[in-house]
Order: sequence, then structure tokens, then C-alpha cells
Amino acid sequence: MRPAIGQEKSVDAGFDSALQYAERWLDIIENKGTFSEADAKSIIEESKENFAEHFNRGWLEYRKSVTEAGDWASVEWSGEGAAFRDVLGREYIDCLGGFGMMDLGWCHPEVVRAVKAQVERSPMPSQELIDPLRGVLAKLMAQITPGDLKYSWFAASGTEAIEASIKIAKLYTQKSAFIVAVKGFHGKTLGSLSLMGKADYRAPMGTLYGGPIYHVPFGDADAVERQLEICDKVGIGIAGVLFEPIQGEAGAIVPPDNFWPKVREVTKRYNVLLIADEVQTGLGRTGRMWGVDHWNVVPDILAVAKSLGGGVMPVSAVVTTEEIFEPMMYPNPFMHTTTTGGGALACAAAIAAIRVTLRDRLWEQAAAKGEYLIPKLQEFAAQYPQIYEKITGKGLLIGMHFRNPQIGYRVAAELFKRGVLVSGTLTSAQTVRIEPPLIISMEQLDEVLERLGDALKTVSRSMEDG
Ligand code: PLP
Repeated sequence: MRPAIGQEKSVDAGFDSALQYAERWLDIIENKGTFSEADAKSIIEESKENFAEHFNRGWLEYRKSVTEAGDWASVEWSGEGAAFRDVLGREYIDCLGGFGMMDLGWCHPEVVRAVKAQVERSPMPSQELIDPLRGVLAKLMAQITPGDLKYSWFAASGTEAIEASIKIAKLYTQKSAFIVAVKGFHGKTLGSLSLMGKADYRAPMGTLYGGPIYHVPFGDADAVERQLEICDKVGIGIAGVLFEPIQGEAGAIVPPDNFWPKVREVTKRYNVLLIADEVQTGLGRTGRMWGVDHWNVVPDILAVAKSLGGGVMPVSAVVTTEEIFEPMMYPNPFMHTTTTGGGALACAAAIAAIRVTLRDRLWEQAAAKGEYLIPKLQEFAAQYPQIYEKITGKGLLIGMHFRNPQIGYRVAAELFKRGVLVSGTLTSAQTVRIEPPLIISMEQLDEVLERLGDALKTVSRSMEDG
């Protein structure tokens, strides 16, 4: 920790040790060779200590990579495709995909190549001249999103895209209320958090967004209609209705087929914007380019993030129509900005990611692989009713719902011991998502199924033994 002002000598000492520490780690980062086992083990110890002392001790205690990795915690180091290795060289199949960030897998060579080329030319825009890549990405977004969505705004994270969606909807409608879903997840900055449908994250924060927020059950279009009708009758202006097409964090929950079409119809009828949070479902994850494509619905605003950066750069976008975007352009075109959002590296990564997604038709791969995987998981669910409650999902956004969080944790831990990474939802292992890179091979999927079968046998046996 830096000493207080007035103790300059010790400040200098702190700076000196920080300088040496940064230099040591730059040597490691830039070293392309392999480590000795002793070096690898010292990196593990050092990483654990840094997390415990300076990052977040709770995280460390919660992680399977620490609790279930045997004698040495797993510190991730490198990866290609749907597999990655830890610093000791142990290999894992990635069935978590960075919670939807890794549609293209680890270190996709074409995305890495584009980013490397751009980083050496000009990594960040001046902010004053016209930077070409932002325009290129905005045009591509207009080309790949449904209907007449045409203008884009860029940032780094999903939650920023949701914040921007809130502001764009408020600016255009001049209204303040939103209708969202119970168990919905839209990010954790204050505006997005207000739309979240989970008490765990909202309640400790007290007062959130100032405007009214109404939560309705996900998938219940009649509840949306009723809420719109009530607000209309009592004179509460609704700016937007915002949902994930398929709820991700809630455990890959697919709404009934009438949900999105009916919500589109009632939002039009009440003159309210429909916002699709495609942060996790976008770009092919659920078997169509966009989650809303399953129901041929065109939202007024679409937010996307995660895999837009090809698993290489953080980048998010909000895409909307020219009419809705107008108040973001006039009279003040700087109404909502962020300095680093849509920088050249992020755009280069996104342009490469979109090219790979289109050329390799990744949404079709997700659909085919989901159609292969989901019935096999359902067979496991039927075989082990004491373990499973149900399987949900579409494409490669799949939820395994267990009888209780302890069982879910046991299955995830047994899978991890067998070299397969999955994760529960943020606070509970009752639901475990299977969300691998869309480019995962059929051989890898078979390997996952075999290891899952083995893990389930172990968990079932231990339940019998009490
Ligand atoms: N919206 C959805 C549907 C998400 O799944 C997430 C993150 O999981 C977010 C928004 C927030 O994205 P980020 O974590 O990049 O802020």
C-alpha cells in the first residue's frame, strides 16, 4: 500500500518495488517459451496471494479452480479453439465460454491477426478526427441486425450497452419507466442493475434508478400487456420494455413461442419501445444470428456485447433506428459518449469476429450442435431423476437444472476434475450453464458427454452412500 503524503521516501520505495514487479511480469508476459514446473508453481502461489490480498478473497474461496483442482490451483494460461491450458499444462474443454464471450473460441487467429495489425498502426482514436473503423463496424451492425436498425453506439461492456439503451429510450420517448423480467440479468452498473430481476444484487444497493421499474414474470406476454394497460390508465409513461430473448443468467430459459410476437404487438399498440438485450444471445449463440430471430421479431433497440469482440477485445454496441437515434445526434451529438468505447482495437476485433461468424455460419453450427447435445443431456436427466430437475435452452445456450445447489456444485466439480469447465449462475450452482464456443468440435462434444456420464455416475453413487 502507498504510504501517506509526507512520507516521500517510503513512497519512492513503494514506486521502486512496483516498478520491479511490473518489469518482472512484463518479462513473463513477453516470454513465449515454456516454464519449468517450479516457475509455474510459483506463479500459482503468487496469483493466489495477489487475489487474496489485493483483488478479492471471496472470489478465490468460491472458485472450483482453487477448491477442486487437486494440490495446485488452476491458473489459466493459454488456449486455442474450445480448449485451454493452465500454467501447469493441464488441459480443459471450455464449456463455459466466458459466459458467452467465446463464441469463436480462445485466441481465434483471424481476430488476433486483425488486432495485432491495428495495434501497431493506431490502437486508439484521437477523438477529434474521423476514425474509419468505428464507421465500418456501425455499417456492419446495420447490415447484420434485423429490420431497419441502422445507427450504432459503442462501448466495452454489456452493462454499458444497457445503460445506453436506457438513455436512448428515455431521450426518444421523454418517458422514464421500464418493464422488465423477474430473474432478468442486464449488468451491474446502477441503471442496468435497476432492471435486473434478482434481489441478491439489487437489495444491498438500496435506491437505484429514479424512474419506475416494473418486473413481470419472464415469458408472460399477458402480464406485459396488463402492466402496459395499468400504466396507461394511471398516466405513468413507459419508455421501454426490455428482455433477454432467452434468459441466460437465469439458466437458459426459453419463453413460450407467443411471447416475443405478442410483446412486439402490445408495445407497438402502447407506443412503447421494445429493447432486446442480446448481450449473451447475440451473434449466433442460440442457433439464429439473434435470439429474436427465432420469433421473427424486430426490436426498436438491440444491445450486444460479449462475443462481439471475438473473445479478444471488449466491445459492445447498441443498435437502433434512425428515428430513435435522432436525439443522440441533434442538438447535441455528444449526449452520451465514453472515451475508449469503440476504439480501433475493439472495432478491428469486432470486424474480424463478424466476418468469421458470417463466413463460418456460426449460428448454424450452434443450432446443429445444440440439437445433438440437448437430447443427450435430456437422456441423462431421465436416467438420473434424483440429480436433475430439467434441461432447458436453445442452440449452445443450455441450462442443466439440478435438484439443489449442492448437487449442481458436485456435478460441476466432478466435471472440472475430469477437465471440463462449466459454471453455475452467479450465486447458485442449482443451474449450470453449458455454453461452449460455437466452434467446439463434435469430438470435443462427445468427450464432454462421456466425462459428464462418468461424473454423474460418481455423484449418483455418493448420493446412494449418503
Ligand atoms: N446482459 C446480459 C443478457 C448478460 O448476460 C450480461 C452479462 O452476463 C450483461 C447484460 C452484462 O454484460 P457485462 O458483464 O459485459 O457488463
